[in-house]
Amino acid sequence: MSTRRAFIKKGGITAGGLATATVLGGSMLPDRDRYSGRLGGLKGIRITGMFIEPVNIKLDEPFHISLGVMTHINNALVTIVLENGIEGYGEAAPIIQINGENQETILGTLNSCKEFIVGQDINNYRSVAYTLKSSFWAQSAARCAIEMALLDAYTKALDIPLYRFLGGMENRIETDYTISIVPTEEAKKQAINLAAEGFRVIKTKVGVNLTDDLDRVLAIRDGAPDCGILIDANQGYSPKTALRFINEVLKHGIHPVLFEQPVLKTDLAGMKFVRDNTEVLIGADESVFTAADAIEVVRTGCADVINIKLMKSCIIESLDIAAIARSANLKLMIGCMVETNLGLACAVHFTAGVGGFDFIDLDPSFDAARCPVKGGPDYAPPYWTIGQGSGLGFGGRQ
Ligand code: MN
Repeated sequence: MSTRRAFIKKGGITAGGLATATVLGGSMLPDRDRYSGRLGGLKGIRITGMFIEPVNIKLDEPFHISLGVMTHINNALVTIVLENGIEGYGEAAPIIQINGENQETILGTLNSCKEFIVGQDINNYRSVAYTLKSSFWAQSAARCAIEMALLDAYTKALDIPLYRFLGGMENRIETDYTISIVPTEEAKKQAINLAAEGFRVIKTKVGVNLTDDLDRVLAIRDGAPDCGILIDANQGYSPKTALRFINEVLKHGIHPVLFEQPVLKTDLAGMKFVRDNTEVLIGADESVFTAADAIEVVRTGCADVINIKLMKSCIIESLDIAAIARSANLKLMIGCMVETNLGLACAVHFTAGVGGFDFIDLDPSFDAARCPVKGGPDYAPPYWTIGQGSGLGFGGRQ
């Protein structure tokens, strides 16, 4: 088994290791021995392998948001193998403008963690996750892939679906669908089709140009007059422009179900200004990566809703964020990056297991056939339904 010293040393030689170097001065790594071996009664199951692969898929349509345009996904797949032959799968899906990671830093981070992971007892998944966070605190998508694979393997070993392990509140959830920054006519056409498919909430991206943004929102309303509209500015507006925009939208008789991240992620005062001057619910997305960020949102009173994404916060810390939001009487949203059905499946299990999510934005970008693993929750728009398969529900590689 890898020692803590070896883990640190190895971490120092890759891109992902930069984060390690920045925290080591404070000796922030917890003492792993303090956590291990506490679980009397549960038979230890060793992790015998960790495999890392890039996942590259060309998008059918470019995905345009205020932060940039995506034409491909360059994600990564992690496979954790247990001594009893069980395999757990995890995906990392970076968007560099959002979490500062790309495929290279993710592969570097994952490779840095490998020696530390192999040899661990899967029962200690939480202490493993804490240790990884203490070193690779900035590499959330990479850590998310590991947590996902650990929890998939762990719940397969327990022979229960992950959503049951997380609380089992429900086994079916309803998602919205996102129309990205596209020309007005295209937005209207998409809205008509989405309403016909059964979607009840349409999310759209704004934050580039106030007039075009307004036209697009109006076109979506015209195409799908009975659908709720959720608006996401991805930090694209100033506080005053955000307010002007939302007032224009209201003037046209549209009352959005939510206005997400109107201003820069660090401008909580600006976000509070928007929130204080409109009745439309304000959502914090990029402003919340950690549980401490969630506390800051609560403390400043700048949002009504927190949008959890596993790629920002990983799985275990997302549980803390959900608890903070619930305790502070904030509403919960779940979102995703551009992920295959593997990453989405984990978010679906999380949402269904924890329960209480008012806004669910887990629309698949690809056909299930393009996911590196086969199986998973069933998607019949706008619903995801989780079966009784253990873990995330994937049977193996495609
Ligand atoms: Mn968002």
